[in-house]
Amino acid sequence: MHGQFLNPLMYCSQMLLPTLREDPAEAQITSHRLMLRAGMIRQSASGIYSWLPLGYRCLKKMEQIVREEQDNIGAQEFLMATIQTADYWRESGRYDDYGKEMLRIKDRHDRDLLYGPTNEEVITAIMRDTIKSYRDLPKNIYHIQWKFRDEIRPRFGVMRGREFYMKDGYSFDIDKDNATKTYHKIFASYLRTYARMGLKAIPMRADTGAIGGDQSHEFIILADTGESEVFAHQDILSLDPFAVNIDNDDALRQNFDQWTGFYAATEEMFSQDDFNQYVPKNKQMCARGIEVGHIFYFGTKYSEPMQAYYLDHEGKKQLMHSGSYGIGVSRLIGATIEAYHDDHGIKFPITTAPFIAGVININMQDAACCDYAQRLNEQLINANIDVLYDDRDERAGIKFAQMDLIGIPFHLIIGPKAIKNNMVEIKNRHTNERSHIAFDQVVAYLQNMM
Ligand code: ATP
Ligand code: MG
Repeated sequence: MHGQFLNPLMYCSQMLLPTLREDPAEAQITSHRLMLRAGMIRQSASGIYSWLPLGYRCLKKMEQIVREEQDNIGAQEFLMATIQTADYWRESGRYDDYGKEMLRIKDRHDRDLLYGPTNEEVITAIMRDTIKSYRDLPKNIYHIQWKFRDEIRPRFGVMRGREFYMKDGYSFDIDKDNATKTYHKIFASYLRTYARMGLKAIPMRADTGAIGGDQSHEFIILADTGESEVFAHQDILSLDPFAVNIDNDDALRQNFDQWTGFYAATEEMFSQDDFNQYVPKNKQMCARGIEVGHIFYFGTKYSEPMQAYYLDHEGKKQLMHSGSYGIGVSRLIGATIEAYHDDHGIKFPITTAPFIAGVININMQDAACCDYAQRLNEQLINANIDVLYDDRDERAGIKFAQMDLIGIPFHLIIGPKAIKNNMVEIKNRHTNERSHIAFDQVVAYLQNMM
């Protein structure tokens, strides 16, 4: 699959791909170090990054998986602005509470604006103004948009940035019962989303924090460099994220009960007594984790102060029941690299790799090699397989090292000897195994691997 905006063929000789040989001093963790070294991002200010073409493609792949799984449960995509008026936040009562994480701005008329750290207020105002009756509900909508939070300690690159990319979704139902069904559906869709990225995310009971509300789960990926300490029953790791039928409410509730039936909690929610009571000693898992998603059911917390009503079938005013649902799209790239790398660089999973294949022409002076490489590129493009062609006039060793560093899953090596036999050498970046394959079998081979 390539995204509709992506160029399916890129040439290393032309691409803005500033890979670094040395480790940048400012990077404390592997993913940050590798993202800088692979030329994916450049810092423009503390916790604020530009996404260079390689990183940008990865971001778009991540985003597309998130989008497809949202659309799959009937959520509708839209787009809210990054800049918000302070008025809505005064209505909800959060303007003063939110504190220094909020970037506050004044326009030329001295009006208070802010760069959105989250969007509950804006969407509640939209719903208040557009929803009239119970017939207009439920609504489940989402956007994928930049957020700004003036984090006290931005660090670890895109893991804890100040500007970051988030999918935030919002649901509006007529009552708690219906809102709970929505929560279960979104819960299931999150499990599928991370699994498609090749990541094992564990849902954990979580604190509702600044967003507030009744019920909340964080989705955590285990990693030694994670910022949170987490506790779980080990067997939760063997549940299948794809097992549930997302169109059936009963199945969704059972799925939710099954996953949440295992003890799994973040530090804030941890209880040693409960842990010992519900998890046998040999199944107790204490680990570190990266939070890649957070879902909340908060009922009428915003609809009440902001007066978001609908008319029920007796014509009586009722408050809408809501939840909000976040996925850290840009943080997920860091989390992916923490999970998939070796000493030579990144090993992107196929679903989120910026390119599926990297064609390495080891002799640009050899006309036959150039001809083979060009024809291979064409075959790949025609089969919808994104390809990065290393057409630089460089030593083979340099090309191999760069392809390893940037984590392209399949390296297709074109050399004078192999092409004499109509063969291409193929390296699998995940196993680092090399083998030979007939030139006209390459596409079928890759399609089979995808
Ligand atoms: P954290 O506890 O890590 O600060 P949060 O609870 O404040 O996260 P939410 O408001 O629930 O985060 O935001 C939804 C998701 O956005 C998080 O699960 C996380 O993946 C991502 N996210 C939050 N803050 C950042 C940040 N500063 N940089 C990158 N991603 C972030
Ligand atoms: Mg936070």
